[in-house]
Amino acid sequence: ADHLILYLEADLNISWTEIQQTRLKELAADDADLQSQFDGAAARDKAFQQLEKKLVKVERQKLQQLRDVHRRPRLCRLESRLTDILIQNDFVQVTTPTILSKGLLNKMSIDDTHPLTSQIFWLDKDKCLRPMLAPHLYFVLQDLLRIWEKPVRIFEIGSCFRKESHGARHSNEFTMLNLVEMGLAEETRQRRLEELAALVTQAAGVDDYIIQSESSAVYGETIDILDGRNRLELGSAAMGPHVLDRAWQITDAWVGIGFGLERLLMVAEGSQSLGKMGKSLAYLDGIRLNI
Ligand code: ATP
Ligand code: MG
Repeated sequence: ADHLILYLEADLNISWTEIQQTRLKELAADDADLQSQFDGAAARDKAFQQLEKKLVKVERQKLQQLRDVHRRPRLCRLESRLTDILIQNDFVQVTTPTILSKGLLNKMSIDDTHPLTSQIFWLDKDKCLRPMLAPHLYFVLQDLLRIWEKPVRIFEIGSCFRKESHGARHSNEFTMLNLVEMGLAEETRQRRLEELAALVTQAAGVDDYIIQSESSAVYGETIDILDGRNRLELGSAAMGPHVLDRAWQITDAWVGIGFGLERLLMVAEGSQSLGKMGKSLAYLDGIRLNI
């Protein structure tokens, strides 16, 4: 029987151990390398050492390039590109607090029965870290609609926070772009939404996306912008007049989209991991630092 086991082990095609696999992913190994098979553990471990060394070298070169050329992570560069393109298209940037009051959260109908409720990071009994930008955008729009000629176009880019069960597509802290155009002609909303989705995805370098409308039991109609290849959600859009507007005495027609910047980067860069793209201690511009 011993002989039989030894024979099987030697002949078995084995793959990387989980630890090796994780390390190789950190070091941005490509799919072909990740799926390699070996004749036995010794061959595998030797191959791992060689591959790791090679990948570390590449990562160090990328880090040097960051220092020599761009000097800013992709996330920051994307934020700048989006800001520029939106300003060129007559949107005004706003910057509102990261801390959100419970009152404003409730005004978004996020009460104890809402799916987002369990994802909120509370700071004290009536303050939390914003899970979205919309409540503060509503707040400032209420005044701007009174003061400015329509249509009023604003956007904000900033961190949002949600308790998530850490997957490769979610993180607890991520960067949202939310743009809103209020006071446009109602019949132009769909076309305008498509234009704005095109503007943002193009600036992000995402060329293959779809816009998908669905009716959801919880939210009414939802309009999502998805990666054309794997259907990853890049953004969610909405149109008004909307039931939530009443709380803000807003009656204008509007369109708005919230995009996740890390999701846009994932797709533009062909990355499998959202964590590498976002604010991180382990990665700088997607490059693992323990190399
Ligand atoms: P998902 O269904 O993917 O969890 P969502 O529908 O809950 O996303 P929205 O509230 O529509 O998210 O937020 C707008 C956008 O913000 C999303 O389309 C996505 O790009 C991004 N986003 C939301 N939650 C996260 C997260 N935890 N990490 C990274 N990006 C996120
Ligand atoms: Mg969504």
